[in-house]
Amino acid sequence: MNRKKAIETFPQIYKEIKKMSPPHHFEFKDPFWVLITTMLSHRTKDEVTDAAARSLYNKYGTAENLSRADVRDVRKLIARVGFSNVKSQRIINAARLIVNEFGGKVPERLEDMTRIPGVGRKTANVVLSDSMSIPAIAVDTHVQRISVRIGWSRSSDPEETELILKKIVPKKMWIGFNPTMVEFGKTICRPVHPLCEKCKINKYCEYYRRTKRD
Ligand code: SF4
Repeated sequence: MNRKKAIETFPQIYKEIKKMSPPHHFEFKDPFWVLITTMLSHRTKDEVTDAAARSLYNKYGTAENLSRADVRDVRKLIARVGFSNVKSQRIINAARLIVNEFGGKVPERLEDMTRIPGVGRKTANVVLSDSMSIPAIAVDTHVQRISVRIGWSRSSDPEETELILKKIVPKKMWIGFNPTMVEFGKTICRPVHPLCEKCKINKYCEYYRRTKRD
């Protein structure tokens, strides 16, 4: 899909996607806990992520307290989360850096946030848009895959896809874009066996045209 057509058709496509799969929102709005929840969420079901983040919050409550936590205690609280061994040390290290370098508050600049151990561009963009209402587009595996399938991006590099999407998606829609697309990627445009026949945007989709129509 060329850029002009992508820009023209985006509002209709996005409207249909939102109707098909309303986004899941993590329960926290505080940037530190959104950050921790996002760090826990990789390869983990939403309900497991939510429960683990809630347990951590109930026990520690602040970055200061979490920065002083015993890794074995944290590991027990997040045991059902994927890669809990790695993540437990990572979130303690993240809390330590936030306390030591940023006075216990998550910084508002992407460049600063990505200095936190375990925080990449995707996680930083989720925190900016979901908890600070700063317009940003987080490109995770769902957003990357869907963007290529629809024909918005031809790049396999998430950073490049982010730049392309920023030219297609109106800025007022950046906030909320990631959670909407993630839900769509989990329920309809799944990694394997996407539900193309029931997908309401299949008439716009390059993948559908290429693989299903005939
Ligand atoms: S038609 Fe299929 S590949 Fe295209 S967006 Fe819909 S589910 Fe995804």
